[in-house]
Parts: sequence; structure tokens; C-alpha cells
Amino acid sequence: MAECPFCDIIQGNLEASVIYEDDLVLAIVPLHAPYPESALVFPKEHIDHFTDLPRDLATHVMSVGFDLSKKIMSEYQPGRMGMGVHGYGVPHAHFNVFPQNHPMDVVFRKMAYIKDGEVRFGFKNLPVPSREQMDEIARTLREKT
Ligand SMILES: [Zn+2]
Repeated sequence: MAECPFCDIIQGNLEASVIYEDDLVLAIVPLHAPYPESALVFPKEHIDHFTDLPRDLATHVMSVGFDLSKKIMSEYQPGRMGMGVHGYGVPHAHFNVFPQNHPMDVVFRKMAYIKDGEVRFGFKNLPVPSREQMDEIARTLREKT
């Protein structure tokens, strides 16, 4: 699949901090997230929409996300954990697992900015964690497996 960064990661052509991997699923520390102690879980098969996943695979992706959510909560102790599929961005089904320390974190308040009088969301105001920081988060969460 051309132009898919998740497939590039799966094929080893793009660097990522891997938290979890099995035959069907990969979980990594995301490059862009309101809090770096987050995870992206996606199937190794390129499938665009989450709703197109076979039920067993969708259940497995969400189950891995649930386990990682518990690990992030245990290790980093955010106020709450959130999980979701927003369906946009990378066109490869993925499940977001993210800590929340404020009620508006569920809508990624740290990504909000105003342009032309409209509230917009994007990565431009988020600090990008270093590879070392992402590797440390991945290592910490792998050790909890
Ligand atoms: Zn893909």
C-alpha cells in the first residue's frame, strides 16, 4: 500500500517505538498526541476504515488497547483514560489510547487553535517527543506486559 505510514512501520521502513506486537496487531507510541504516554493500536493488514475490520480483529485491536490503557493508568496515573476511533488522519484503521487530565482532553484540547475566527484542531501546537522519550515509554509499557 503506497503512502501509508502505518504500513511503512509494519514493514520496517519507518521508525516507531513499539509497545506491543503480535501476528495481527501493532501498538506504538504516537508521534503526535496531547500526552506522549499514549498508544496507537492498528491491525497489520491495511484496512482503511475501522468499521471494515472483521469483528474478531476489531475486538482484538480494542482488547490490546484496553490492556495498554490499564498499563498507562497504572504507570503514569493520569486522571482518566480515553480510547477512540476518529476515522480521519492516516487512512489505516487505528485505535487511539490516550490519558486525560482534564474533561476537554477527550476532544484533544491541546490541539485546538483559532484561525480565521474558527476553532480548529491540529498538531502544530503539540511538542513532538524525542525518539528517546517515545522509546522509554514503549519500554516501560512493554515491561508491564
Ligand atoms: Zn496501511
